[in-house]
Amino acid sequence: MEKIISLCKRRGFVFPSSEIYGGFAAVYDYGSYGVELVNNIKAAWWKAMVQENENIVGLDSSIFMHPKVWEASGHVSGFSDPLIECKKCHARLRVDHVLEEVGVFADEKMSEEEINKLLQENKDKIECVKCKSKDFTEAKKFNLLVQSNLGNFTGDWTKEPTYLRGETCQGIYVNFKNVLDSSRVKVPFGIAQIGKAFRNEITARQFIFRKREFEQMEMQIFVKPGEAMETYEEWRKIRWQYYLDLGIKEENLKWHQHENLVFYAKAAWDIEYNFPFGFKELEGLHYRTDHDLTQHGKFSGKDLSYQDPKTNEKYIPHVVEASVGADRTFLAVLTEAYTEEKLEDGSERVVLKFPKKLAPIKAAIFPLLKNKPELVEKAKEVYNSLKSDFMCEFDDNGNIGKRYRRQDEIGTPYCVTVDFETIEDDNAVTVRDRDTMEQKRVKIDELKDYLTLNLK
Ligand code: ATP
Repeated sequence: MEKIISLCKRRGFVFPSSEIYGGFAAVYDYGSYGVELVNNIKAAWWKAMVQENENIVGLDSSIFMHPKVWEASGHVSGFSDPLIECKKCHARLRVDHVLEEVGVFADEKMSEEEINKLLQENKDKIECVKCKSKDFTEAKKFNLLVQSNLGNFTGDWTKEPTYLRGETCQGIYVNFKNVLDSSRVKVPFGIAQIGKAFRNEITARQFIFRKREFEQMEMQIFVKPGEAMETYEEWRKIRWQYYLDLGIKEENLKWHQHENLVFYAKAAWDIEYNFPFGFKELEGLHYRTDHDLTQHGKFSGKDLSYQDPKTNEKYIPHVVEASVGADRTFLAVLTEAYTEEKLEDGSERVVLKFPKKLAPIKAAIFPLLKNKPELVEKAKEVYNSLKSDFMCEFDDNGNIGKRYRRQDEIGTPYCVTVDFETIEDDNAVTVRDRDTMEQKRVKIDELKDYLTLNLK
């Protein structure tokens, strides 16, 4: 994990937020390569969901919604994690995670009484992660919704707060009717959206795995009640395959079935990834019955039922959701790609073996030597001819070996070098493959086609 964090900082993938002020816990910024990677991750998800499924449409709802949305969804009363505080160093810990680490099953759905009972039974095993003390306060449920004063000018907004959304899917439920009435979809159909979510997470550990401001990619499919389980099983297969297509090795993926279901859910499985700190949730797949639309129907007073145009049958659709974090996918993809290799000459290299579609930079263009204007000019020409089709980078810093190492470390699939032969002889360039390190001579006229074909 340390190696990945250091690479992320050194090569401009991820920076701690407001770092010059000492950082801001559990908030991070994506640097120039990080933003390319996360954009490619989001594009791959969008393609797999919206572009390749005729019955799934996109949405981009606002971060802020009517506060009643969060009452209807149950977040105001029940979106909380159990917290304990170390009496010695005042570190705050999430009790269900602390218990899990000593082999005791607990989760955030348990009541304060249940959690405190478990805490008592295991108090000898549990110690503070910071100071090792065993003296804690009682567990208390802490609500994770982040509040704001948006649209409230009274100076005492905490009485009637608005919320930064705790999950993106509520924007999908409240737009169910709008989408239905404005597009040609019919049940079964899905709505997909990517967007920021905010949670006052108690523990700010594990890098971008658990952020307080993060991005979710969520798809909710609305189905006829009796067909939901079949849809659910189908989507479990689709989502598993999606990760394999993203270049994740199957041995690094695992299913985890929820033992303790919320009262309205009929099935809940997570896809876990083998992060550097062990298998942890990457995506959640849930069958949520008609709970969400029923709740919003009740709280808004609007009829959110669906009438089948053929049979005239009327019902509240059931929901199957596939929900994943863009940041957790980023960390999984990065972990999977991170490779240390010993080369034949005894040297070592770090290479990020991203699937090509996710690589931040697709091709790096070099003049062999920086101080030969004719080489620099030709390399610039090559760069200019490619940049509108591929995310490219021009680099003339340091020697070629150093430039290769740098591109390996940011996962660039191809390095293209302009040398004397290019100008004097063959109008071709050397193309070096990131993974095999093999070099090929490719005519400049054919370079665009070569990259198009090989980057697929
Ligand atoms: P966890 O149990 O790890 O807190 P969760 O079950 O609360 O996660 P969901 O509410 O199901 O998560 O959210 C769906 C997805 O959003 C998760 O699978 C995860 O990929 C992502 N996600 C949730 N919380 C965070 C966070 N704090 N930081 C980054 N990604 C998150």
